[in-house]
Amino acid sequence: MSKVYMKDGKLVVPDNVTIPFIEGDGVGAEITPVCQQVVKAAVELAYLGKRSIEWKEVLAGGKAFEQTGEWLPEATMDAFREYLIGIKGPLTTPVGGGIRSLNVALRQTLDLYVCLRPVRWFKGVVSPVKEPSKVNMHIFRENTEDIYAGIEWEQGTPEARKFFAFLRDEMGVMKVRFPETSSFGVKPVSKEGTQRLVRAAIRYALAQQLPSVTLVHKGNIMKFTEGGFKRWGYEVAETEFADQTFTMNQYDQIKKDLGEESAKAAVAKAINDGKVIIKDCIADAFLQNTLLIPEEYSVIATLNLNGDYISDQLAAMVGGIGIAPGANINYLTGHAIFEATHGTAPNIAGKNVVNPCSLLLSSVMMLEYLGWNEAAQLIVNALERAFSLGEATPDLARFMDNGKPIGTAEFGKRIVELM
Ligand code: NAD
Repeated sequence: MSKVYMKDGKLVVPDNVTIPFIEGDGVGAEITPVCQQVVKAAVELAYLGKRSIEWKEVLAGGKAFEQTGEWLPEATMDAFREYLIGIKGPLTTPVGGGIRSLNVALRQTLDLYVCLRPVRWFKGVVSPVKEPSKVNMHIFRENTEDIYAGIEWEQGTPEARKFFAFLRDEMGVMKVRFPETSSFGVKPVSKEGTQRLVRAAIRYALAQQLPSVTLVHKGNIMKFTEGGFKRWGYEVAETEFADQTFTMNQYDQIKKDLGEESAKAAVAKAINDGKVIIKDCIADAFLQNTLLIPEEYSVIATLNLNGDYISDQLAAMVGGIGIAPGANINYLTGHAIFEATHGTAPNIAGKNVVNPCSLLLSSVMMLEYLGWNEAAQLIVNALERAFSLGEATPDLARFMDNGKPIGTAEFGKRIVELM
């Protein structure tokens, strides 16, 4: 058994690969074994013994705390550093103890700058929108910057007072409406951080032959941070992918110089030539548009906080929290952690009703990341069959006309049968 590694900027994947996993707290103990069984069956069926995965358990969350007294033991971080790829169930967020969130700690330590959330609809799954088949988006959420960086001070503390005094005395800021009772947060957004994220989104669109990348921002209001994201995003497309993309920035320039007809002709030609169209949208309009014209959007590149809202809205449009997968990736080092996007669901833990699809579809993303697309496709096909037969865990089955609710473990077995 051996490890995935990077060579000349590319991932090298041995046929027999060891992958560290965190079982996860709460429902983690139910979904993790189901996913491992399904992945094992898919890999066996696709490669007839030529390829295999050996799972290596590492600890984090409540289970780690019980066994080692630590929420995120260094040995776990070392395993992710060493093996590059890992997968995790949901983790209890510790209350107190200096760790804000284990997920954030993992992302920051490995500098996993892309949070990738593909959102697609499975036939049979009930959706609150009229035409969910039009929803097929791939969200690239920036994972390390923005107001999420956790640089903030609580109102009433000496730090908040000091920060305000700096703003007022050194920077001449007079706009804080209620300075005495304000908490303050800082929103760092960099050119490097933006460009590595947008670069990854464009490369993904090119590799998957997707039609467009939309930069979603609030640059109309936050001109230097979110506005910078838009400008730097267009810049990376125009300088590094000049032959493979056409930007709406270029469209505007042509329109100004040569008129609207010429600009329309240029974009039509770019589409015809198979170029990826790079456009942008203000975040509030974007959230409306995803409901009204979802077919207009494919790959989305956005800042951390916008990405958080967008991910949940889009997940809800295709069946909700139990079915949305995710991954945190650093494309430069190869490090990637695939994860269930929901929490530990303590209210249903131990009842054999939890939907394993979020972690299962994250496993599919992991197989695709390894380049094991045949195994990934077997799982996707089996899920499509199960849902069209109305076979699903209760959270989805209860809304299906032909719904037949089955338990978590039974659902896993059924997916293996349907492969
Ligand atoms: P939650 O996602 O655990 O649960 C929210 C609701 O959705 C609950 O009603 C739950 O039963 C339901 N639900 C969640 N996943 C489901 C699934 N797969 N199938 C069916 N129903 C599902 O969110 P919460 O209750 O706010 O948080 C519980 C704990 O999880 C907290 O400690 C929180 O910090 C942690 N959390 C962890 C992560 C993570 O590790 N990625 C994410 C969110 C919350």
